[in-house]
Formats: sequence, C-alpha cells, structure tokens
Amino acid sequence: MNKLPTPRDIERWSPRRWDDIAGNHELKATLQNFIRSGPCNLLVTGPKRTGKTRTIKHGIKALACPHRTEDLNPCNKCSLCRDVDCPLDGHLGLFVAATQSNFAFTQMDCEAVSREVLTTLACKMHWQDEGLIVYLDEISALGRRGMDTLLIKPIDEWPCIWFASAVTVLQPTPSRSRERVGGLSEAVRNRFAVKVGSTVPSMPELFDWVRVRCAEWQIEIDDEKRTLPELWERSQFKIGLLKQQFARAAATPGRRLTLSEVRAFNYEALD
Ligand SMILES: [Zn+2]
Repeated sequence: MNKLPTPRDIERWSPRRWDDIAGNHELKATLQNFIRSGPCNLLVTGPKRTGKTRTIKHGIKALACPHRTEDLNPCNKCSLCRDVDCPLDGHLGLFVAATQSNFAFTQMDCEAVSREVLTTLACKMHWQDEGLIVYLDEISALGRRGMDTLLIKPIDEWPCIWFASAVTVLQPTPSRSRERVGGLSEAVRNRFAVKVGSTVPSMPELFDWVRVRCAEWQIEIDDEKRTLPELWERSQFKIGLLKQQFARAAATPGRRLTLSEVRAFNYEALD
C-alpha cells in the first residue's frame, strides 16, 4: 500500500478484477463469455444499486483493454480503461474512446439525452463501426420519456454492439410480487439477444468483500461479530451504499467502522 486511500477514493471505488465484484455471478459469466467468444446485445435488469453499471463497465474494460491479463482482467491503467470509468461527455452526452483496442466505447445517459440527439445519431459515421460498444445507461428512462423506439432503427441497422441497463421496480400483484422494467417497450427489449438480471451477494460473499476492502482501505471494524450482520441487514447488500458508509468511516480520525455508525447511517436517504 503506497498511499492511504482518501474517503473520496473509497466513494469512487470500482472493481479492478473480476474477484472484486460480489454477487452478479450470471452477469460476470456472460461478460467473460463475451471476451472469449465475442459480444452481442445485452440487457441487464435489476433493482437500483445492485452493481449493474459497475459490472458492465468492468466487462467493457476487460473486453476492450488492449493489455488484458490472462485471467481476463483489464489493466485499469490505459486510456481505454480510464475512459470507460470516466466518460467525459461533450455537448451531446456522448463520448467515444479511440484507442489501439479492437473496440471503442461510448455511453449514453438515457435520463438526460435529448430527442434531437437521438434522432440525429444516424449522422454519426463512426457508429458504423462493428467494434463500437454503445452503453445505454438506464434505458428504461427513454421508455418513460416516450423515446425508446427511436433506438429500433439504429439497433437493427448499425453493426455496433449495444449494452443497456434498466432499473426494475417491485410491483405487488394480487398473487405475488414481480419485478418489472417500467417504461421499456417490448419491441426494444426484443432487440437484446441476452438478458440478465442483477443479483446481490450472499452473506459470506458480502462479508468477504467487506473484509478485503477494509484491509485495502485500512479501515478497522469494531465488534465485527455484530457490526457485519448489521451492515448486511441495513445495506440490503448494495455495494454502492456500503462504499459511502466506508467513506464516512475513513473520514473519521481513527478510520474505524463502529456498530453505532452503521445504525446511524441513513441508507434509505440515498436511494
Ligand atoms: Zn487497459
């Protein structure tokens, strides 16, 4: 360890290796298969803060990084790896990373992209590239805004690879609860050959993840026997929220996570 990670480093943490990702086994296996056999259109659905974007982005890095390791991990250092983490968008909300990779990457924030941008996408010649991965973040927002069907023509006609994530909401029905992707039309859903649901880690997986991260971030857990189960209960296994809890712990002088801190942390407010 050359430098003590700052609270902000912890808040911005993203996986560097497949083993850093807790849960999401099917999604990880799908993305690793894409590296071995070639990718196709992928739709990832699941509740908020279950690691959809984080896992997809790791997969894109691993797929496209020209310095990929033998165990299929990205280098996390080259310009492509950095661009996938921080797509600095221009006026259009789009960003294309041009590297020595066989793949290029662009991301669209579907909550913010305008109708005008979507309808003029056809003019973007580089989108003819079959090595371009287009990541549509929260595609169901386009559905809610009545714009998702504008994607049908580009998806059908352009050779790029489309990855999308969509938040599901739990809808109580008379007989049972069902998770549904709100807003996204069936026609658009059908454009994705592979559909995978996100999954949260098991209790032992989450505990392992917490222990490894705390060692890396040099945070000590007080009364681990009670604090870890409380973390499990309160965080609802959501890594995105746990990072914030640990960033707070790192911002205290002793870098300790206590049971009372876990109890006092407002997990609900962050959703
Ligand atoms: Zn790289």
